[in-house]
Amino acid sequence: MNLYRVFLQNNLYLRRLQTPSVLFIFITSRCNARCQHCFYWKQLESKEDMQLEDYKKIISSLKNRLSTLILTGGEPTLHPQLFQCVEFALKENNPRIIAIPTNGILTEKITELANFFCQKYPKTLFDFSFSLDGSQNIHDKIRGVEGCFEKTVASINRLKKLKAEKKLQNLGINVVTTVGEHNLRQLDDLFFYVKNHLDVNHKIQLLRGSSTGVFGIDRRQLSGLDPQISTDFSEETLGDLRATISRVQETYEASPLQKLKLSVQLDTLEGRPIQMKCVAGVNDGVIYQNGDVAICEMLKPIGNLKDFHYDFSALWNSKKVRNYIEKLHCRCIHNCNIVSNMKYDFRSLKKMWGLDKKTKPFDDLL
Ligand code: SF4
Repeated sequence: MNLYRVFLQNNLYLRRLQTPSVLFIFITSRCNARCQHCFYWKQLESKEDMQLEDYKKIISSLKNRLSTLILTGGEPTLHPQLFQCVEFALKENNPRIIAIPTNGILTEKITELANFFCQKYPKTLFDFSFSLDGSQNIHDKIRGVEGCFEKTVASINRLKKLKAEKKLQNLGINVVTTVGEHNLRQLDDLFFYVKNHLDVNHKIQLLRGSSTGVFGIDRRQLSGLDPQISTDFSEETLGDLRATISRVQETYEASPLQKLKLSVQLDTLEGRPIQMKCVAGVNDGVIYQNGDVAICEMLKPIGNLKDFHYDFSALWNSKKVRNYIEKLHCRCIHNCNIVSNMKYDFRSLKKMWGLDKKTKPFDDLL
């Protein structure tokens, strides 16, 4: 396929979007863990679920088919009507990918969900990302739950068994490690463990909060969503971070997309100029369980859906919101937004294809 054509097609698609292609919905602020690096930890105390009726109105108000719907929280598997949420989105909007980031504690519910939906909707990818942050002791300490590592590994193994037994091509199983100063030294061992004991996709995301890793914006516009632990990387750690990440990526053959994404994140953190335009607010959007809408998790909400009778499209396309987005010129290290940005950036597309012509870019979305 011609690279220019892909670039033009993608950008034409972006121009025509009336509502996001990638939507993060925080369906609950309940969680059964207390992770040190969670940027949503203060909100977890409210233990609030998005109401199914409100959720339905939001999904029905979307103008475009979603490429990816991310149901997150809190721990999304704790939402009492998670099955209904997934089913309604599939019937009403038919997203290409439904992504569920989970701590993996609720093995039975996760397996039941994957078993039911992967068989009923074979054309949709159901992508489960399990967090693992270190060896058993370190992981349990970071997550604040004894036995968490064991349960997460059990869930991964159950999904692997299910995928193999039922030949489920549309079941994605990933391990995601959030890397900061607190677990950087664990990374080599963890990658070795995942490769040799689990053998599933293993992705890295950098520890982040709204206070660090965001540049080119008035600090008063930041969301204040920050973890309890420091998200700062000292100059010395930044060097170690780059070296460790390149080592594990080379050893364990990370995808071109993952390599490029992390190199953009590290360049941004090190203060190198990044030319890529951010498409948050057009391609990507965030909805919190209380109805707040933000263009990304780094910035303050731009409105609340209660004021729009849960018509997401009306809020998203209001003059006030569009004017606000047009004036933004920030850049940051946010994992998912960078992946979206790369899809519309000629140089990124070119680099990815240069790295591996066999890989279809953006199969690997998060
Ligand atoms: S660069 Fe994009 S994702 Fe990052 S803070 Fe700005 S708008 Fe949000």
